Amino acid sequence: MRDALEQIKNTAIEKLEACGDLKALDELKVKYLGKKGELTAILKQMGKLSPEERPVIGQLANEVRAKIEEEVSRRIAQLKEKQLAAQLAAEKIDVTMPGKKFDIGKKHPLTIVMDEIKEIFLGMGFDVVSGPEVELDYYNFEALNLPKDHPARDTQDTFYITENTLLRTQTSPVQIRTMEKRKPPIRIISPGRVYRSDALDATHSPVFHQIEGLVVDKGVTMSDLKGTLEMFIKGLYGEDSKIRFRPHHFPFTEPSAEIDVMCFNCHGEGCRLCKGEGWIEVLGAGMVHPKVLLNCGIDPEEYSGFAFGVGLERVVMRRFGIDDIRMFFENDMRFLEQF
Ligand SMILES: [Zn+2]
Repeated sequence: MRDALEQIKNTAIEKLEACGDLKALDELKVKYLGKKGELTAILKQMGKLSPEERPVIGQLANEVRAKIEEEVSRRIAQLKEKQLAAQLAAEKIDVTMPGKKFDIGKKHPLTIVMDEIKEIFLGMGFDVVSGPEVELDYYNFEALNLPKDHPARDTQDTFYITENTLLRTQTSPVQIRTMEKRKPPIRIISPGRVYRSDALDATHSPVFHQIEGLVVDKGVTMSDLKGTLEMFIKGLYGEDSKIRFRPHHFPFTEPSAEIDVMCFNCHGEGCRLCKGEGWIEVLGAGMVHPKVLLNCGIDPEEYSGFAFGVGLERVVMRRFGIDDIRMFFENDMRFLEQF
């Protein structure tokens, strides 16, 4: 029996040492120390021993059990540590590795300035309204006091689709559509694309952007127009900006004016940007023609209004020093990434 116990101890320790994972270790533990284990099986035969031998073998059996238990605990701790080390190695993050580069999209320069202009007018209580780019002749011309035989039609080289439909040459048709739908007070801007059959060169494009504004209410005067445009220009070019009105003619406004802003580059001295003038033309504007109001069912005896229009491309070109309008529409990343 002594030999049997010694043998159990030795093979148990040997097997525990060779065991590579925790589950197998657990099985070995049951095999040797469990209720149906080998050690228990030996101890059941204790009854056959003489009274003198019993305590000696009993003590030896306890020593063997203690030794195996100790060995099991040691191996469990060892294997757990090994497992943890392996896990840490597998999940290690190298914080010095270069990260993945994300390309962040940028706004198109036209959008940057368009958004700025919208913000300025939203701040003054204007709504932003849009309308169709394929427009009826009526909204693009006729309702704006430009009947079919009007000579001013020739100045806007129009893309006609049929005799009565066209690509809008201005965003003014949105004003007509708005006045037909809403009752005064009206305070809107209508930004968007417009089309003219101009040959493409450094300063002309068959597609470009306008932002038009319209205010209609009781008692609206030219001084309201001037105040509004001053606010706008100061918002766009800075608080010290100066503007001047020059008389002009548009069929849809009376009186009409062109508005210049003092050159922000030379402050009126004259430079290359303003072609030596000291002033740069930025806007067309005027008091809404009574006939236009009438066309939209608004009584010109009761209401008056003003309207204005800005060409977006020119403003953006001067802002960023861009000298070719084609850059806006070529989608060249080398250009677009600069903004
Ligand atoms: Zn200048």
